[in-house]
Amino acid sequence: MEVSYTGKSIFKGIAIGRIAIFGKKEEPVKREKIEDAAAETARYDAARDRAVDDLGKLHDDAVKKVGEENAEIFNVHAMLLQDDDFNDSVHNMIESQKVNAEYATAVTGENFSKMFAEMDDEYFKARSADMKDVAERVVKILQGKTETMNYDQPVIIAADDLMPSETVQLDKDKVLAFVTRFGSANSHTAILARTMNIPALINIPVDPSWDGQMAIVDGHTGKFYLDPEASTLAEEQKKLDADLEQRRLLQELKGKPNVTLDGKEINLFANIGGPKDLASVLQNDAGGVGLFRSEFLYIGRDELPSEDEQFRAYKQVAETLAGRKVVIRTLDIGADKKADYLHLDAEANPALGFRAIRICLTRPEIFKAQLRALFRASAFGNIAIMYPMITSLEEVHRIKEIVEEVKKELDDAGVPYNKDLEQGIMIETPAAALISDQLAPEVDFFSIGTNDLTQYTLAMDRQNDKLDDFYQAHHPALLREIKMTIENGHRGGAWVGICGELGADTSLTQTFIQMGVDELSVSPSMVLPVREAIRRSHAQ
Ligand code: PEP
Ligand code: MG
Repeated sequence: MEVSYTGKSIFKGIAIGRIAIFGKKEEPVKREKIEDAAAETARYDAARDRAVDDLGKLHDDAVKKVGEENAEIFNVHAMLLQDDDFNDSVHNMIESQKVNAEYATAVTGENFSKMFAEMDDEYFKARSADMKDVAERVVKILQGKTETMNYDQPVIIAADDLMPSETVQLDKDKVLAFVTRFGSANSHTAILARTMNIPALINIPVDPSWDGQMAIVDGHTGKFYLDPEASTLAEEQKKLDADLEQRRLLQELKGKPNVTLDGKEINLFANIGGPKDLASVLQNDAGGVGLFRSEFLYIGRDELPSEDEQFRAYKQVAETLAGRKVVIRTLDIGADKKADYLHLDAEANPALGFRAIRICLTRPEIFKAQLRALFRASAFGNIAIMYPMITSLEEVHRIKEIVEEVKKELDDAGVPYNKDLEQGIMIETPAAALISDQLAPEVDFFSIGTNDLTQYTLAMDRQNDKLDDFYQAHHPALLREIKMTIENGHRGGAWVGICGELGADTSLTQTFIQMGVDELSVSPSMVLPVREAIRRSHAQ
């Protein structure tokens, strides 16, 4: 008899097929006394090295399947395993307590995972699950177990939870969807599911007795049907056919212009976090990069990236995109994006605090190194620079002074750069939107950051999921600000783009075009859906 459950969809799409329960038979790791601590330590070292090796192979395989950005998780895992503190702790436990390597690895993995979970830093918090995952990998090697998922027929994978390393090993052709009991919409696993185009639901009370039963996963509604009736099957099959047709049509849009029914052309660019995302920009046929979040070069490391290191990253992006525009945003660190080496104080209201351009203007040595790298790289492609979190005219004037100093230094040293390089600002504070008439003549372009503009306009922390029911993505106040910004930008001679998530909301594409937007910059996977929306819009 049909039973249905409603979970949370983390990737849209329909899957119809049999369930395969992916069960991790979690046997507790046994504590055993050992005699020879040196031999046990060597056994651990060998297992760890083999795990690092395996991770390297998984990384290379994942790059082909899901792209560099999503494969990066395996590099992170390898780094966690090579961490001195972690290894010292395992060695120390084996030597001081004379316990087996499996036990020392499992306990140390647990301890480090808990320590990460308790940290304030979101990056480290997110590493808590990874730490467990990677310690389990070493334990399995020590126990002589390797786990792969092999299914003859394509199946719906059901599990309590899936680790990122397990998700990426799913053979895309053999997996129709996955449903889990646990997991969060922003986890790496969810991101991987989206990139692999596999429909996925979380919060479904998965039960081992479902193994082998027919089911339907509806990622559009979040519904999961166990043992569906014929009428449900027929209805969902229709939706599945429509999805497949939609996907085929999207592929046909590659190479086509982003032009409305009445002939207005819009620039459609992609948002990236670094050179590793270039493949998806090209695969999805984006016209350029409208937002390169340069802070990703600064976080998850122990020290500032040097000017040369940054120069190489910017140059690589500019060269690879061969003349297409690349808008690089200067450091937007602070709030949720942290770097310990900057020693920023904890703040009561980080989203309203010391972040982005406020840090750059206070610590010009950091800002100038980035600007030098950007200007130097501009000799190798079509780079534009954009400044985040602007609230006042004075900030723009101060930025210009610093930019002039940098240009003079480069001129004096005879370093080539693009003298016509475009410079713009993000409009992501209500203050900037409200004075956009004064700001426009000062810059070449505006890029509207709807993520922050929404949070500051509605006074709702974008990180707080308790506010989901209050958060109105299409709030009229926000739409007014966007319209006003576009009109003021044009009056003052600046082109105007949208690079926040709202830019990918296809229910607003025609509205934005009618407001006069010149460019939309969206995550690479949304380029073709937005192209489709542009091509069925009217500009008038
Ligand atoms: C925004 O605020 O809309 C934006 C694009 O920047 P970020 O999401 O990186 O803050
Ligand atoms: Mg922002």
